[in-house]
Amino acid sequence: MSPSGCGLNRTDGAEAAVARAHGRSCRVAKRTPPRLFPECLHFGVPDHALLQVTDRGLYCEAGDFFIDPWRPVERAVITHAHSDHARRGHSQMLCAPDGVEVLRSRMLPGAAIDPLPYGEPVDHRGVQISLAPAGHILGSAQVRVEFRGEVWVVSGDYKLSPDPTCRPFEPVRCHTFITECTFGLPIYHWAPQAQIADELNAWWRRNREAGRHTVVFAYALGKSQRLLAAVDPTIGPIVCHGAVERVNDEYRSGGISLPPTQRVTDFGPGELARGGALVIAPPSAVGTPWLRRFQPCETAFASGWMLVRGSRRRRGVDRGLVLSDHADWPGLLAAIKATGCQRVLATHGHTSVLVRYLRERGWEADSLHTEFVGERDDLEVDTPELPVGTAVAEEPA
Ligand SMILES: [Zn+2]
Ligand SMILES: [Zn+2]
Repeated sequence: MSPSGCGLNRTDGAEAAVARAHGRSCRVAKRTPPRLFPECLHFGVPDHALLQVTDRGLYCEAGDFFIDPWRPVERAVITHAHSDHARRGHSQMLCAPDGVEVLRSRMLPGAAIDPLPYGEPVDHRGVQISLAPAGHILGSAQVRVEFRGEVWVVSGDYKLSPDPTCRPFEPVRCHTFITECTFGLPIYHWAPQAQIADELNAWWRRNREAGRHTVVFAYALGKSQRLLAAVDPTIGPIVCHGAVERVNDEYRSGGISLPPTQRVTDFGPGELARGGALVIAPPSAVGTPWLRRFQPCETAFASGWMLVRGSRRRRGVDRGLVLSDHADWPGLLAAIKATGCQRVLATHGHTSVLVRYLRERGWEADSLHTEFVGERDDLEVDTPELPVGTAVAEEPA
């Protein structure tokens, strides 16, 4: 593999350009080495581990690059475009080819993003980097890092359940597996997607017959498209919020087949008064004038958290659709076993329960403190934090 094949090598000039663009106060311009978190030691990551948690994110010292860093850095491998993994302000980014456009739309104009095809390793300063599908959203990847025979895999967010809108999760053999753990409790066990789709279609049909709209709140990136791919479009019109429709367009141009959807502006005056539409909107649309035109309606929130008593009531919706783009408990265990790893580092979620469970069964296991948030039931995780054009140097810490 030629060194020029790895976009992360294109650092000459990039750093200077970023410094010019952002001024002297910008963190990107500083060349100070990342500060290792002392907590790493307590969380079982040895001092010279291949990947370490630093103040800027997961860092590979041997290759001098980060994975999903939470502060602007020079070289970042991005697992997927959700905002807790894909922050703005990095000089060079590498991601899966089918994730490039979704990622680009969330970055500052002119962001340098290079595609790395799945399963094709690049050599960066003696460290082999490659990607494998994570099954989470379009373009989501696990990152495999190999150095002197030692292999680590960073899962990013992943699920094992089938999803027609993205490539299925592929296990990768490794010594150390850094796994997300959003739903890392034995109570989390997802029903088959077909069952959720049947439930949604039947409910929409009933609402349509009664002259009501059916409003489903779902994250704009990933969850909404998975829902769209699962519903029966012969029941009635499907209306998407602008934030969802923008992502739909990106998915469609990425070759993902979705049923026809409409924007509110496609309807004439009074046309929506008849009811019967399926409306997909991000949680942030709750209480907005945009939503008020869909009356009368019944509402649902699509999230893994809907399995928990109280979540539905807190959201103030009529029903919960238990649909998650993260692995459930059996999924986490199956993924871990399939890697053949000796050590598991668990991040975001109920890590202590999973860690204890794994230790009792012979794995080396620890929690890893990161700033990833998993699937939230209170906030939107996939909305860009800053309006396009905002100076990165002003990004709140
Ligand atoms: Zn995610
Ligand atoms: Zn996450």
